[in-house]
Amino acid sequence: MVIAGPCAVESRESLMEIAQIVSEEGVRIMRAGVFKPRTSPYSFRGLGEDALPMIAEAKERFGLSVVSEVMSSKDISVMAPVVDIFQVGSRNMFNYRLLEEIGKAGKPVLLKRGMMASLREFLWSAEYILLSGEKRIILCERGIRGFDTETRNVLDIAAVPLLKQKTYLPVMVDPSHGTGRRDLVIPMAKAALAVGADGVMVEIHPEPEKALSDGPQALDFAGFRRLMEELRGLSRALSEIKKEA
Ligand code: PEP
Ligand code: MN
Repeated sequence: MVIAGPCAVESRESLMEIAQIVSEEGVRIMRAGVFKPRTSPYSFRGLGEDALPMIAEAKERFGLSVVSEVMSSKDISVMAPVVDIFQVGSRNMFNYRLLEEIGKAGKPVLLKRGMMASLREFLWSAEYILLSGEKRIILCERGIRGFDTETRNVLDIAAVPLLKQKTYLPVMVDPSHGTGRRDLVIPMAKAALAVGADGVMVEIHPEPEKALSDGPQALDFAGFRRLMEELRGLSRALSEIKKEA
């Protein structure tokens, strides 16, 4: 499964362009940030509620479902009419009260690994959501902090088979935040698929160099098409190997 879309909704026009290519490539779930957690309060923090009608229009026109991050429990009711899957971001994986509120919201949850969380802590956070009533949880490995500045994070590929040993929950990988570099997104997405991930989530943008957030890790449309082609090829090869085994 592939989830693709912008880091954040920036304008109606760019969102429609993105939704169109996403649906043309057969992707059924678009990511679309509304409230963005940014390290600097002076960075673009998302359009907020103004993005919601744009998302509703894109869903309607292109028949997509949408995942978006909830940063505060007060946004749950605001986002619920339009957003299909609630994302818990890396910075909020340890926000247990928020996890409980999201677990009661009646929507599937995409839970991202905290950037300094052990796998054990990651799983306990999923448990908070489960105990609050929501069983439809997708775990998402998005890299942990390391010392090397070549990449934004260290994408923990071993987490995928480990998490799959320990739970029945689907495990996705986010190679965009996991590396912070567009040139590494396709190779790491393929690595994720090869180790048994249930899917990948990637950021795309019509003009990544002009993106208001996370441009360096966004694929442009040609890159996104190449990603999809390479994943389809790898997926075919992997199922051949399975048949032979
Ligand atoms: C995101 O997916 O939009 C995001 C902010 O990622 P993370 O929480 O993993 O940093
Ligand atoms: Mn981002």
